[in-house]
Amino acid sequence: MKKKQIAILGSTGSIGTQALQVIEEQADRYEVYAITANNRVELLIEQARKFQPEVVVIANEAKYEQLRDALADLPIKVYTGAQALCEVVQAEPIDIVLTAMVGFAGLPPTMSAIRARKAIALANKETLVVAGELINELAQQYNVPILPVDSEHSAIFQCLTGEIGNPIEKILLTASGGPFRSCTMEELAHVTKAQALKHPNWAMGAKITIDSASMMNKGFEVIEAKWLFGVRPDQIEVLVHPQSVIHSAVQFEDGAVKAQLGVPDMRLPIQYAFSYPDRLKASFDRLDLFQIRDLTFERPDLERFRCLALAFESLNRGGNMPCIVNAANEVVNRAFLEDQIPFLKMAEVIEQAMGKVSFIQKPTYEDYLATDAETRRVAAELIK
Ligand code: NDP
Ligand code: MG
Repeated sequence: MKKKQIAILGSTGSIGTQALQVIEEQADRYEVYAITANNRVELLIEQARKFQPEVVVIANEAKYEQLRDALADLPIKVYTGAQALCEVVQAEPIDIVLTAMVGFAGLPPTMSAIRARKAIALANKETLVVAGELINELAQQYNVPILPVDSEHSAIFQCLTGEIGNPIEKILLTASGGPFRSCTMEELAHVTKAQALKHPNWAMGAKITIDSASMMNKGFEVIEAKWLFGVRPDQIEVLVHPQSVIHSAVQFEDGAVKAQLGVPDMRLPIQYAFSYPDRLKASFDRLDLFQIRDLTFERPDLERFRCLALAFESLNRGGNMPCIVNAANEVVNRAFLEDQIPFLKMAEVIEQAMGKVSFIQKPTYEDYLATDAETRRVAAELIK
């Protein structure tokens, strides 16, 4: 059997490193064709020496020489810059591109990979938040599958296998509630970065961990679900489920509810995106329901978790509004991580940016680029 060639955008991150573990465990099926990073050049060098890909890209040009010199003894092509990301994903031998970069920066290389007819294993949810309609149109035009990696969307996708022609009545999108699930408004005003970075169930990159604490992540996942599964916003229900055992569920028109359960381990959804529709034997921990005992559910509190409400609002307004929310969120997320603003200021700035940045009902790709840039300026100004 010919091994599937995989390109990983963001191989040094949380998703990227776990994807490499999957490939290592399934080495008879998958091979690393390309890996990329932005700053963590030492880890990228280590990965390149171990997996011997054809191509390595470091987006940050200041790190290029270090990378090139460290790999000079190997027959590996080394490139740098954001444009190089768009080019390498088009290489003919690549079968699957795993988009595991963070934020808006993932949009151009994802579009480039679709145009080259590569299957997309999509972790970079911001791509769909910003430009879901555009990505769907492009994927349809080039006949490319978008395979979800986000655990909830992978769960929904797994529930939908074998259900062709059976409409979804409702999606039950579960949320852990994050580290501040039971905090009062007064407590939320004073929570620290260190507390926000301690997610109860998942170890993830810093940006998504903060998004989980504010529940913006769940808002983004609602938008992501709309584009992946073609449902209306009112068909998506968010359930706070602190145990994170049910990764999400689908309700069908006969009332049947199918859910996917498991231990919180991103390697399973990553592997399923690679192997779909097959399931491969894996060494991941098994779920022990006797040990878990209780599965509980609460409605999300849209007042304490204002970001979730703002994401819903942006989805209902459509156009470039989710793009505005995403860009403003990238700015405030970074500012919170750099101790420049308190926790609750994040939602405040996002809401103000939503009122200030020019609204476009039918945005083009160029409009998204302009909206992203304008919103970053506006949000930075609002933080000052
Ligand atoms: P990390 O921050 O851990 O990793 C991000 C990766 O992308 C790193 O390799 C980083 O390089 C690279 N990168 C970041 N910015 C750029 C840029 N501007 N240009 C090029 N490369 C860049 O993030 P995660 O792995 O946690 O998340 C990746 C994506 O997957 C996000 O969209 C997130 O929402 C989504 N996701 C993550 C989950 C998780 O469990 N972690 C779960 C579900 C979705 P470097 O290391 O050099 O900085
Ligand atoms: Mg998720």
